[in-house]
Amino acid sequence: MITVQEHLSRIVDTVQRLPSIGLDLLDAQGCVLAQDVTSAVPLPGFRNSAMDGYAVHAVDLAGAGETTPVTLPVAGDIAAGNTQALSLAPGQSMRIMTGAPMPDGADAVVPVERTNGGLTRVLVSAGVSVGQHVREAGEDVAAGDLVMSEGTRLGPRQIALLAAVGTGEVRVTPRPRVVVISTGDELIEPGNRPGFGQVVDSNGLMLTAAVRALDCVPRRVGCVRDDASTFLTTLESQLMDADAVITTGGVSMGAYDTVKEVLSRAAAMRFDKVAMQPGMPQGFGVLGDDEIPVFTLPGNPVSAMVSFEVFVAPALRLMAGRPQQEASLVTAVASHDWPAPDGKVQYARVVLSRNASGHHTAAIAGLQGSHALGSLAGANALAVIPADVTLVRAGDQVRCHPLGPILEAS
Ligand code: AMP
Ligand code: MG
Repeated sequence: MITVQEHLSRIVDTVQRLPSIGLDLLDAQGCVLAQDVTSAVPLPGFRNSAMDGYAVHAVDLAGAGETTPVTLPVAGDIAAGNTQALSLAPGQSMRIMTGAPMPDGADAVVPVERTNGGLTRVLVSAGVSVGQHVREAGEDVAAGDLVMSEGTRLGPRQIALLAAVGTGEVRVTPRPRVVVISTGDELIEPGNRPGFGQVVDSNGLMLTAAVRALDCVPRRVGCVRDDASTFLTTLESQLMDADAVITTGGVSMGAYDTVKEVLSRAAAMRFDKVAMQPGMPQGFGVLGDDEIPVFTLPGNPVSAMVSFEVFVAPALRLMAGRPQQEASLVTAVASHDWPAPDGKVQYARVVLSRNASGHHTAAIAGLQGSHALGSLAGANALAVIPADVTLVRAGDQVRCHPLGPILEAS
């Protein structure tokens, strides 16, 4: 028996960040930058108006007020999108729209609300200070600035900044492509009602969805029989354009545990009992010329999900170049007693909720057997109970690994 940490260390020491590729900016959403991005242009790119109003020389409005309005001639009209350089003579104004380039010489904008909106002459009933309602070129980003560092994950806001500075394509660490293979003679395709002795391949869908939820690219292979040559052929045919493979089933001590039987012969695969519950039988290694990481997870649905969370997700994040601290644990108070196995880390399905004062509580989410999908779907966290604890008592602090949004307790 090895510890969770030993198995995890072997995995994270083996997998590597994927080589970078160039992608169109929008296709790079969710990916991590594999380059620094320096801006060739300033932002704003030109001096422009922050308001709809009138570009003026502030000095011309000295003394302007509600009871002492000042009238200025309107020498022109500048809309956003105007690409002509204009200039404003002293004593004059120009009607200007938000985002339109400031005419040379103008040093402030009077908002339209402070005027009568005149088209040839405008009555202004407020003064302005120099620079008011003007966005200076480069005040946000200067040309030559480092706008984003290698390692930044690209979400909507980061994509907007890169687009604004003129980026079309970026070098990123790609989303790992992950093959999901389910094994078992009892399995039938999802969408069918299971007959006696049959089980729907819920693992295949669960893990495909879990891969997708991590912003990786899943490829689900249908159910594979417990037959050595079928399994091997399927696996080999999938190694070609994959970055990782996840299998479920066939790794325990049963008579038809094909995955373990076949892959035990591969020198770079290892099968272990890991001191955890659920999820004890685990296999990991690399296969093929490209040394593709292969995770062979147990078939019981809860074991498969816990194994994914504990071993596969950190590996996929690492391959995608993402910081490991993304998955952080939440400390909660156990709301009642529950037993835990001696010598194994327990991953208990719990409902995690947060009360008005920000404290978290964890309550067991139903039946804890490793086959029990009902309680898995109903849980929103795994309470991680250390191997030496055999009884969690109400009031104990437990560390929880969130699986979904935390509930607000009323
Ligand atoms: P195994 O790991 O192959 O011994 O399977 C352990 C248990 O998990 C058995 O009850 C299987 O029927 C169940 N199981 C295996 N694979 C799947 C799957 N893909 N979807 C749902 N249940 C499965
Ligand atoms: Mg099986």
